[in-house]
Amino acid sequence: MPELPEVETYRRFLDDLVVGQTITEFEVKDAHVLATDEDTLRRALVGCTITATRRLGKNCFLLLDDGHVLVLHFGMTGDVGAYRDEADAPRFTRVALHLSSGLRAAFVDPRKFGRIRLADSVESYQLAKKLGPDALDITAAQLQEKLSRRKTILKPLLLDQAITAGLGNWIVDEVLFQAQIHPERRANTLTETEFSGLHKAIQLVLHTAIDHEATYRHFPASFLIHAREWDDSATPGTDQHHYCPRHPQTAIDKAYVGGRATYTCPTCQPVPAA
Ligand SMILES: [Zn+2]
Repeated sequence: MPELPEVETYRRFLDDLVVGQTITEFEVKDAHVLATDEDTLRRALVGCTITATRRLGKNCFLLLDDGHVLVLHFGMTGDVGAYRDEADAPRFTRVALHLSSGLRAAFVDPRKFGRIRLADSVESYQLAKKLGPDALDITAAQLQEKLSRRKTILKPLLLDQAITAGLGNWIVDEVLFQAQIHPERRANTLTETEFSGLHKAIQLVLHTAIDHEATYRHFPASFLIHAREWDDSATPGTDQHHYCPRHPQTAIDKAYVGGRATYTCPTCQPVPAA
């Protein structure tokens, strides 16, 4: 599933491809991915110039010169591509924006859970979808303010897009591992130092993932994700990826928290007292 790091990678790709370009044609190969009707989209898009791109959580936005925004949400399997000739259209291209450069920007989505819609602005979309600040933009003070009075366990709060937008399941596990906090700690029991560590860990995990264009095999050996992906790329030819990078004798534990598969180091992340 495209998470914040994938969507940021898509946004950067689109930024190079579409900014400054006028949309000459709006081509729909499969209307299933449209959340605004096709005629409305065509009328709104054709003739507009794309002035900028933005991202909020897992949503990507193309800003149009008439003030509207095109919102791209990638669902389970969404991706982007570019091509010039119809014969080169990526497989599973559902929608294509034909650009004044002669190139076409493709919205590719094998399983068709992605959605394309028109919105008045990024801010109105954020309000309508009840999205909190982007996980890369949220400050340590904002994070503490939103969490420090909550008596519920931490992991579902960090997954809640209304608190901060863009943290998915593996990202939250990695953040909590890096911050050395158990996912079932009640948010109101965190110290100021732990909140600060949590914020630093969010920045570390997201920047690392974006720097590696979300290719998890290339993440540093200090990351928990290698245990989750059963991937020995960081410790080739050994089974060390089943163990904590900080505690080579301690096996990474898998459990379910709030119904979601959750990986922890029992030594780094002690279970909270009942
Ligand atoms: Zn450990």
